[in-house]
Amino acid sequence: MTNGVVIVGAGHAGVQAAASLREEGYEGPVVLVGDEKELPYHKPPLSKTFIKDAEAKPQPLRGEAFYTGNTIDYRPGVRIEGIDAGARRLDVAGGGKLAFDRLILATGSRPRLLKLDGTDLAGVVSLRSLADARAIRELSAQTEDVVILGGGFIGLEIAATLRAAGRNVMVIEAVDRLLGRAVAPIIAAHVRQRLEAIGVRILTGATVAHLEGDNGRVSAAITSSGERLPAQMVIIGIGVVPNVELAEAAGLAVGNGIRVDQHMLSSIPEILAIGDAASYRHWFTGGDVRLESVQNATDQARLAARTVLGHAEPFSAVPWFWSDIGDMKLQMVGLTQGGDHHVVLGEPAENKFSIYHYAGNRLLGIESVNRPGDHMLGRKMLAAGFSPPPQTVAGGPDALKAALAAFQDMEPAKASA
Ligand code: FAD
Ligand code: NAP
Repeated sequence: MTNGVVIVGAGHAGVQAAASLREEGYEGPVVLVGDEKELPYHKPPLSKTFIKDAEAKPQPLRGEAFYTGNTIDYRPGVRIEGIDAGARRLDVAGGGKLAFDRLILATGSRPRLLKLDGTDLAGVVSLRSLADARAIRELSAQTEDVVILGGGFIGLEIAATLRAAGRNVMVIEAVDRLLGRAVAPIIAAHVRQRLEAIGVRILTGATVAHLEGDNGRVSAAITSSGERLPAQMVIIGIGVVPNVELAEAAGLAVGNGIRVDQHMLSSIPEILAIGDAASYRHWFTGGDVRLESVQNATDQARLAARTVLGHAEPFSAVPWFWSDIGDMKLQMVGLTQGGDHHVVLGEPAENKFSIYHYAGNRLLGIESVNRPGDHMLGRKMLAAGFSPPPQTVAGGPDALKAALAAFQDMEPAKASA
């Protein structure tokens, strides 16, 4: 190997892949190419703190010394616009070629666009990158009324953050509940009630028909029922689409993401894909998924590095997620679609509770609000392959810990996997 590994995309997945290649002992060249200009940074703080604090600085994923110290050739501000898979060469925007032995695509995703009259007005934004967050922070300083389209994680995190900064915030969600793709109705209803209690207005089952402007700047959102909502900033947070175009043009199999196997190999084995851009058959559910989370991106990156180094273990990480929305720390572990009953621990009225989701006797996952202990224990239980009976859950955390310990004593090999 002489050209080494090229990683396209310097986000959570790409940076971890570079780090893991070195940690796993890869000695060839590692080139990390990203089209953003900054040192790669943490995305989660952007919606939770950065946009309300004029002094906040981006948080780098790794310091500059990490790249030089590990001989990782980080190339910021460089966009790849084509892959010649046969020749193992990339086309660099603006000219130039970059050869690879193995290629890791970590191209992430981008905000879904909304085709409406008025979305081209100044003040209409979405949040994905640090550049977007800076733009929102600047706009927010000149804004009283914010309309947010989409009641998913990003919309609600921004709603809580901008409300805490004193803005009038209105969230418009197309379906009849919040967080439809993410959490159970009981959690979504709780989040709604607490956001409304701090003055966030929420319209569900509603859409925006068009946006109105004044001298080229947005001034209002008009709902499909004709309500006029004043807005000097409109934030569109209606989901993301995976960046698959490079892979598709190169002939890789694509289906809601770049298709990869359990080792993160695409349909062309010299090319791997990871993170928001990759879709795969999940070991936990047996269904095809494309997960959008930091944990998924970094765990896939670790595995991809091991695949490059010749290891053959399949992806088996337990999926987990988190979100901070105002005074609620939401933590989710497992994949809970297909659940048919659940057990609640704790008290929604105290803003501290967890939902244990089951399909029959199988624990699918746990969603927690301000109960980090339940979440951590849940990660251990799912990693060990342990499904406590619902009546043990009802006994509380101590009963669960004891049951997990007993299970691990019986199945030490499985439990330590
Ligand atoms: P990204 O981090 O998006 O990185 C992809 C990179 O590739 C980007 O820099 C992109 O510009 C670059 N790129 C794309 N195409 C090319 C090309 N052709 N050439 C060169 N470069 C290219 N997840 C959580 O689990 N918890 C959270 O609390 C959380 N909060 C979030 C808050 C915000 C505001 C956002 C936007 C996301 C949040 N997420 C959170 C989701 C999480 O950030 C993503 O799942 C994660 O970033 C995915 O990592 P990735 O490396 O696959 O993609
Ligand atoms: P999302 O979770 O897919 O939520 C988008 C929401 O917008 C959905 O509820 C969707 O409803 C709704 N919607 C779609 N079209 C709409 C319309 N025309 N009008 C009003 N609502 C509409 O995605 P997101 O919240 O935009 O987040 C973007 C990305 O950032 C995701 O990858 C997400 O995982 C990531 N992120 C994660 C976190 C976290 O994990 N804490 C935090 C911030 C961001 P339907 O489902 O009915 O389409």
